[in-house]
Amino acid sequence: MLPEHADVVVVGGGSCGCVLAARLSDDPQRTVLLLEEGDGFASGVPREIRDAATLPVGPESTWTTIFPAQLTERVATVVTRGRVLGGCGALNGAYFVRARPADFDAWPAGWSYDEVLPYFRAIETDTDFTGDLHGDSGPVPVSRVPADRRHPVSRSFLDAAQRAGHVPVDDLNAPGPDGVGPVPLNVRDGVRTGPLLAHLVPVLHRPNLTVATGSRVTRIVVAGGRAVGVDVIGTEGLRRVAADRVIVSAGAVRSPHLLMLSGIGPADELRRAGIDVRYDLPGVGRDFSDHPEIAIPYRYRHDLPTGVPVLETVLHTDALELRPYTVPFDSAIPGSGVTVPVLGVVATRPRSRGRIVLDPDDPYAPPLLDYRYLSDPDDRADLCDGVRLAGDLLAAMADVVADLDPAVRRGGIDDAWLTARLGTSLHLSGSCRMGDDATAVVDARCRVHGIDGLSVVDTSVFPQVPSRGPHATAVMLAHRAAGWAA
Ligand SMILES: Cc1cc2nc3c(=O)[nH]c(=O)nc-3n(C[C@H](O)[C@H](O)[C@H](O)COP(=O)(O)OP(=O)(O)OC[C@H]3O[C@@H](n4cnc5c(N)ncnc54)[C@H](O)[C@@H]3O)c2cc1C
Repeated sequence: MLPEHADVVVVGGGSCGCVLAARLSDDPQRTVLLLEEGDGFASGVPREIRDAATLPVGPESTWTTIFPAQLTERVATVVTRGRVLGGCGALNGAYFVRARPADFDAWPAGWSYDEVLPYFRAIETDTDFTGDLHGDSGPVPVSRVPADRRHPVSRSFLDAAQRAGHVPVDDLNAPGPDGVGPVPLNVRDGVRTGPLLAHLVPVLHRPNLTVATGSRVTRIVVAGGRAVGVDVIGTEGLRRVAADRVIVSAGAVRSPHLLMLSGIGPADELRRAGIDVRYDLPGVGRDFSDHPEIAIPYRYRHDLPTGVPVLETVLHTDALELRPYTVPFDSAIPGSGVTVPVLGVVATRPRSRGRIVLDPDDPYAPPLLDYRYLSDPDDRADLCDGVRLAGDLLAAMADVVADLDPAVRRGGIDDAWLTARLGTSLHLSGSCRMGDDATAVVDARCRVHGIDGLSVVDTSVFPQVPSRGPHATAVMLAHRAAGWAA
């Protein structure tokens, strides 16, 4: 049964929501209600979610929401995000890398690298490194695949990159030069150990914490300029729950979507969709960023092992990440249909900005993700540089690579080639940007401008996508923000 009232309602039991629910319920005097639209697990967390070598996000998965997406004007696709207790963090690649110090230059005062380092340390137990940079008692286990257990693709890539002059970097979570090295993984004994298992599951017994799955929040209730509760559809039908404080952690797509459905967002767009405007906040859903990724197909020389983490090593240059995925996606993401191995080329500092667009005929339908990838010519130039670099490295990985697309080998890629292989790293960020300018949505403490008692805590508040995967930074953010919710 849902309570009539909670001191804090957290909307969305994804990566950030799990951290918030656990940290906020540390105080036994505070009642916390976590509302998650997707499934929970009455009889234990299933194998597919625990197994770090599987990403259960294929077409058959019941733990995802599919959004229509326009990557460029001509490239239409769909984008998958987690809809399950644990959110995207329960299904993801388990690559748990921190944002780089320079990424925090875009953040408001209070979020410099030195100021966030204690929170990065607090969330982790790093089993490979100790000292001032690393945590030894946090909930998320962090480790790298040791050299003698690495997949042949990872070994070959590391060798090729080092022969090409790239610096070996053993600890990608330490500030320092770009280079090639093993990725930090939130994996323990083969189990993907994100906020669901690390933070939430251990505290589910608490009497002051209620976790309601299958519960979709349809509206934040605002009265007199203050959030006073939420409307929820779940097993009890439509219910209203009163709250002293509402924290929206519905992810970088659904958080701005929910704000808009609640009348908080760009007034013109809300009116077009027939939504009463509560507060005109033009930045909601605008100017998001995400990493464009080009998948370069090739062929293995002979069969290689499967059942390993999809990514064990990466190469970083100033504006690129090269990702030698260990297995064809079809073996890690059942039903994905990608049966050949690929090397991913990611533009890590994209300048192009996208927006989340309501369906004016049915604002409750999944909104369109309009990425506007490659709208900045420098992003295109970065990706072309990356494909050339990837071609050189694949050509040098003769022990595993049998055959490479001739266009990549010759460096003869054109626009059609590039857009045919364009995808997204699924790192959407910045759709409810933190700041104090006219288009910022939350302040530096994640409080929504103009509405009391309402915060957003998830990757939507990042000022822009970090130049690395966002997961570790999201967990750090939620850990820190929980300290402010009192
Ligand atoms: C397939 C995949 C692989 C990825 N791999 C990596 C990786 O290896 N490394 C990395 O750094 N990043 C990775 N990412 C990105 C990273 O996992 C996400 O950025 C991060 O988990 C987002 O956390 P969040 O809390 O912002 O949102 P989410 O984890 O998406 O949580 C949002 C939750 O809110 C729920 N929700 C939404 N709307 C409502 C509502 N109205 N009512 C109730 N509940 C609602 C959703 O069901 C969801 O569970 C990956 C993402 C995907 C999809």
